[in-house]
Amino acid sequence: NDVPVFAPAMSPQEGARAATALFREVFEAEPDGVWYAPGRVNIIGEHTDYNGGLALPIALPHRAHLALRRRDDRIVRLVSPQTREKVDVMDLDTIGPKGTPGEVAHWAAYIAGVAWALERDGFDNLPGFDAALVSCVPLGGGLSSSAALECSAAVAIDEVAGLGLAGTPEEPDDAGRARLVTNCVRTENEMAGAPTGGMDQSASLRCREGHALELDCRDGSVAHVPFDLAAEGLALLVIDTKAKHSLDDGQYGARRAACERAAQILGVELLADISAEDLPDALERLAASATGQGAADAEELVKRTRHVVTEIDRTRKLVELLQDGRPLRGEKLAAAGELMDASHESLRVDYECTCPELDVAVEAARAAGAHGARMTGGGFGGSAIALVDGDAVHDVAAAVAESYKREGFNPPAFLDAVPAAPAGRLV
Ligand code: ADP
Ligand code: MG
Repeated sequence: NDVPVFAPAMSPQEGARAATALFREVFEAEPDGVWYAPGRVNIIGEHTDYNGGLALPIALPHRAHLALRRRDDRIVRLVSPQTREKVDVMDLDTIGPKGTPGEVAHWAAYIAGVAWALERDGFDNLPGFDAALVSCVPLGGGLSSSAALECSAAVAIDEVAGLGLAGTPEEPDDAGRARLVTNCVRTENEMAGAPTGGMDQSASLRCREGHALELDCRDGSVAHVPFDLAAEGLALLVIDTKAKHSLDDGQYGARRAACERAAQILGVELLADISAEDLPDALERLAASATGQGAADAEELVKRTRHVVTEIDRTRKLVELLQDGRPLRGEKLAAAGELMDASHESLRVDYECTCPELDVAVEAARAAGAHGARMTGGGFGGSAIALVDGDAVHDVAAAVAESYKREGFNPPAFLDAVPAAPAGRLV
């Protein structure tokens, strides 16, 4: 019988043990420590980050664990369970952005790239390091396995090189972490060549356990919004569609470029400058901007802008509901679910970044009793989320798995998403 498959998070102890064991096996030495950084899932506020809007991610209990030891030279050596036969070796003096002679292959770019970015941010002459990576963040599932890599490297380098940016897990230095975020984003953009905004890295470095992170992507300011679903008798089911998504095949860049064109036509710096009240007027101006055969282009700008502005408004409304205090029940719960549902519709119809696997997951979850469901992350595959009763997690998952089977899709995987702690040191 088809039991839905859940991807469990490694416990901190398991993660530390596995990363340390791999480090000892490959480098025949003791690491200086083990650092970790979580993947994230966004509750609402999609494709708003690069528009200067709001997002509301939580950190997942699924993490990248990095056992790392400082070196006295400028060499970086990296290994993961998948690459233990062939250790990646790089030199901090010669690595460079993607598309240059110093470009770094594959996942090593996300780790060594952080040192490269920090050096460009004024931290000269960083030490090299040996590191072993063990991650349980599903790869390419829209749950930000890439940011988990960058942020684990950021907190590790911060400590072994004495940069003093991250603070301690008990007393995180939020301003210092915001600076690490900037460097991790630069790593992803330039070293890995993925033009993503800052939501993923902010979530991984700046979230709080039991809370969602209200992130204002214009100025990087944050607020911690209570999101203790278990205490409310609720749960957040993540559905990893396993459908292939690729943010660097041009779709993501095309959405970003459309937003920039729309902002330019409207005479604003970022689409977040358009308020919900000003939206009808702004859409009229975009529609009128069509010249010659540009009608299709104008229609595209109208749709993209409508998504971004309404999504920021929905995010603000969900934050208000959550800040309003417990319990999240009755009308309040229904309203939260409706905001999530509306977000998905907007992403499907106006932003056109869902796919059949995401739409089927969302519909099946709703039909099985989810209070609200939506795609999350960049889209074009990746994951969806469903807000469900705490005792309904497995039933909703089974219903989604069943609908996938009916559609002839590959089986999805599931995660139970609990708002977890931000990046830090384990041992
Ligand atoms: P997402 O961040 O949503 O998981 P991305 O495409 O942004 O998807 O990042 C996936 C990439 O991150 C992979 O292609 C790989 O280069 C790197 N990566 C993430 N986790 C690991 C891992 N555990 N081992 C090796 N590479 C990883
Ligand atoms: Mg990513």
